[in-house]
Amino acid sequence: MRIAQVVPDLLAQGVTDSFTYEIPEGMKLTRGDAVLAPFGGRTLVGYVANVREANASEFDFAVKQIASKIDGLSLPDDLMEMLEFASAAFLSSLGSVMAAAMPPGVRSRITTVYSIIPGAEAELTPGQREALKIITEKGGKISERQVWASKSAGRSAVSALLKKGILDRTSYLPPERKKKLGAYVLASGPAVQKFVETQRRKPAQIACIEVLREAPPIGMTSAEIAALTGVTSSTVDRLIEAGILIEAKHESTVRAAPKKLTSEQSVAFDRIAASLREGKGTKFLLHGVTGSGKTEVYLRAVEETLAMGKQALYLVPEIALTAQVVGQVRERFGDGVAVMHSALAEGERLRNWRRAREGTAPLVIGARSAIFAPLANLGLVIVDEEHEGSYKQETAPRYHVRELAEFRAARAGATLILGSATPSLESYHRALAGDFELLELKSRAVASKLPDVAISDLRDLFKEGKPSILGPMLHAELAATLNAGEQAILFINRRAYSHSVVCRDCGYSPRCPNCSVAFTFHRGIRKLRCHHCDLTVPAPDVCSKCSGTRLRALGIGTEKVEEIVREAFPHVGVARLDRDVAQKKGAVEDIFARLREGSVQVLVGTQMIAKGLDFPNVTLVGVIAADTGLNVPDYRSTERTFQLLTQVAGRAGRRRPGRVVVQCFQPEHPAIRFSADQDYRDFYEFEIAERKEALYPPFVRLVNVICASSSAESAREAAEVLADHYSKIQGIEVVGPAECALSRLRGKYRRHLLLKLGLDFDISKAAWGAHILPENGKGDGPGNLLLKDVAVTVDVSPGSLM
Ligand code: ADP
Ligand code: ZN
Repeated sequence: MRIAQVVPDLLAQGVTDSFTYEIPEGMKLTRGDAVLAPFGGRTLVGYVANVREANASEFDFAVKQIASKIDGLSLPDDLMEMLEFASAAFLSSLGSVMAAAMPPGVRSRITTVYSIIPGAEAELTPGQREALKIITEKGGKISERQVWASKSAGRSAVSALLKKGILDRTSYLPPERKKKLGAYVLASGPAVQKFVETQRRKPAQIACIEVLREAPPIGMTSAEIAALTGVTSSTVDRLIEAGILIEAKHESTVRAAPKKLTSEQSVAFDRIAASLREGKGTKFLLHGVTGSGKTEVYLRAVEETLAMGKQALYLVPEIALTAQVVGQVRERFGDGVAVMHSALAEGERLRNWRRAREGTAPLVIGARSAIFAPLANLGLVIVDEEHEGSYKQETAPRYHVRELAEFRAARAGATLILGSATPSLESYHRALAGDFELLELKSRAVASKLPDVAISDLRDLFKEGKPSILGPMLHAELAATLNAGEQAILFINRRAYSHSVVCRDCGYSPRCPNCSVAFTFHRGIRKLRCHHCDLTVPAPDVCSKCSGTRLRALGIGTEKVEEIVREAFPHVGVARLDRDVAQKKGAVEDIFARLREGSVQVLVGTQMIAKGLDFPNVTLVGVIAADTGLNVPDYRSTERTFQLLTQVAGRAGRRRPGRVVVQCFQPEHPAIRFSADQDYRDFYEFEIAERKEALYPPFVRLVNVICASSSAESAREAAEVLADHYSKIQGIEVVGPAECALSRLRGKYRRHLLLKLGLDFDISKAAWGAHILPENGKGDGPGNLLLKDVAVTVDVSPGSLM
């Protein structure tokens, strides 16, 4: 018999296993095909993971048959290969990665039809003959729905006819209704301005308008507008009712012409075009400073790709997937753009999936999960802001988009472009090694300066015992900015979750001698602890560097900053935006609307405001304590801080000259010094040497193994057993086990071990997960009972080590 492993479309219910089915005689099935299969009394949509010959005796259960193949939904080969690669490289089940690639919401839309097989004969009961007569009268076909409704040609008769070979069963997704989805644009003329001025009480609507005003006037569906402007669909409906959003005329009339390339852009584009034309599948790293016009290079490359009849995949970080970016792309490529966005409604997501698969949308733009787009003739893959942490999926199925993109492009023979102003160390290292061709854009596309970055040293203030949240330089700049009627953003790096200790005299922050990451300060026990190797030392009274006696915990909240700004500038509108505030529905839109209309002059916020925002009247960016991020116990803290400061600096002065004030305790720290100078290469040289010395990526591959349990003892015991197991494997260095930085999460105690794998270590050769634990807790050695109830998470190339 022929057997197919089928992954059902049940991700929402948490099912990602594959199940075994027999392939009926005569059914042609290959890997990647969509099928209907019986599953627990129902019929489900599923995807074929693989097909093989088998012996019935292999199975100790009754193997069910696949009901039918669904036409027009199969996944392309390079995508299937990529899914297998993702599963192997990131230790995610094949089912879980396949589920991510499946078209959304197919099951309820599938139509099944039974048709009479011409010339077939069999002995029939009177009831079956009656049913056959009815089907013949209907033209030889009957749909599943009609079967359910019919008395004489009901389910039992039809399935008997199917078994006897009289009827054939086919399933398909009905073609899309031709009706075009309405596309909307902002109305022109004074009506919109009047609405904005008179309807201040409707912050979400105003916010939506303001976002669309920044984007090209290109039609978008109402679901797209809602998803890309961050408002609900009812907000969009209100605007349509009010005549503020109007139906767009056909889009192709507003195609924008490409910009004339700068000489740097030309050089880069020519290299890319050559790769595309010759089908060489070159891998590029496009390193361009903020504002250097990387987008225009991408758009030209897409244009070239589409002109060759091929398809392009354009990936951006979640936060960058805005109406502005999508508008820009659609302005150039019209209807041929499919947006993949998790906030779109299911029907629209399915529609876009099909348009991509059928080729009517040869350009797919989306965030992380768009890497799974069903494009069968891929010529170009772009990963914009390739250094972004959000490209790593941190829950199952785990994967890193950069690696999948590289794999898929290679399989498809497509050209790959990774782009960034601050490339990841991994990518830059590979570019210098010749794996990627390096393309550089060193100046801004339009003659605007990069903003001035001034460093304000907080140590002196501390020495004088003065409060330091708003140092004199930042205070003066803020006053000047507000006097000029302009606005400011004050930024606090709150990813610095755990508080470390800083010497207020010299700025030094103690680090673990074994792991070169910051110690975390445990106030209760007055100890410093390393969250990689668990080394614990008493919190020192004296600084080991300057012998100063004023070691203090570092950590400032947004509320405190807001309060201090209010005190210093009592007549100024101040707003705060952090995770707490953002939880309230509409709160973010409300704050942005108030910032745009000017009633908020100073915005205090966390990471959430570092990127993506483009408020023309914001001319000052203040970083409250740039060091906080450096003290996160993670080997990437320097890199992340450098990237963040460079991006924050890139925010200011896009439209008019801007200024950045970076307050810190360690002005000489490379992340701060080099980002102030906007000097990537120097930063790279410094940091890569550190990585090499301490053995971190790109010199090893990291695997973070986390043991979580409601019993602290069990978590500890499991981590010990695993550490022992892995330390015996050649090519693996074990660091830890240690308490996780988040030592308790949702009631579970968490311990982890960090594994450093040699670059040529084959991950599939080792065993992973809870089953390594002896009998998963059922063994009889001492301590084994403790191993029950331990969840083991294995994270390859972890994005976070908390
Ligand atoms: P990056 O993504 O590299 O930070 P952008 O792509 O956002 O930079 O470009 C910055 C600005 O420069 C944008 O306003 C863009 O329209 C403009 N720009 C880019 N290329 C050109 C060009 N060749 N001629 C004129 N303006 C350009
Ligand atoms: Zn350590």
